[in-house]
Amino acid sequence: MRRLGVALVHFPILAKDGSIVTTAITNLDIHDIARSCYTYGVESYTLVHPVAAQRELASRVKEHWTEGSGARRIPDRKPPMECLRIEETLEEARSAFDADAEIWVTSAQEMVQCVEHSDARAQLDGDGPPVLLAFGTGWGLAPEVTERAAVRLSPIRSPRTDGYNHLSVRAAAAILLDRLRGAP
Ligand code: SAM
Repeated sequence: MRRLGVALVHFPILAKDGSIVTTAITNLDIHDIARSCYTYGVESYTLVHPVAAQRELASRVKEHWTEGSGARRIPDRKPPMECLRIEETLEEARSAFDADAEIWVTSAQEMVQCVEHSDARAQLDGDGPPVLLAFGTGWGLAPEVTERAAVRLSPIRSPRTDGYNHLSVRAAAAILLDRLRGAP
């Protein structure tokens, strides 16, 4: 079984008009995805943000729930938050996790040569380098990230006739982690 890490990327990110932007860290994304990662045995969860002040904010949140009053008040929150890492770039997130790790990316869109979740799970269950699974924010990961990825996962598809499948990143992470690592 290959080692698995998760990264939540805040730059480079697509904006609604297709430009490349930096998004702000959402507090809920820190907690909810950390708990999903811990639940599914993901080794580490890395917040990727280029702005130092945003990384410091995330560090303070982590400290509150691992060493501060949050850890004392709600001990269950501590283990997932201890797996939280904070890095400036996706490349640094990869290096901190494992320099040999493959970057796998996710999107609500049908990306070229995308891999179905069942096939991705089989790859993860087999042998190979570690995998860093990247999620986006805003309107999704920028093409410079998705085009360079080793694997582009197929989207979580909708049965709706209009195909609406724009999930929150928190929901998408939980669903994909269950499909990739959930108990059968
Ligand atoms: N603020 C927005 C929110 O949380 O509602 C941010 C949305 S952000 C673009 C959604 C991210 O979650 C995508 O970059 C992708 O990583 C993932 N995602 C959302 N919907 C998805 C889907 N249907 N299939 C796969 N991944 C999805």
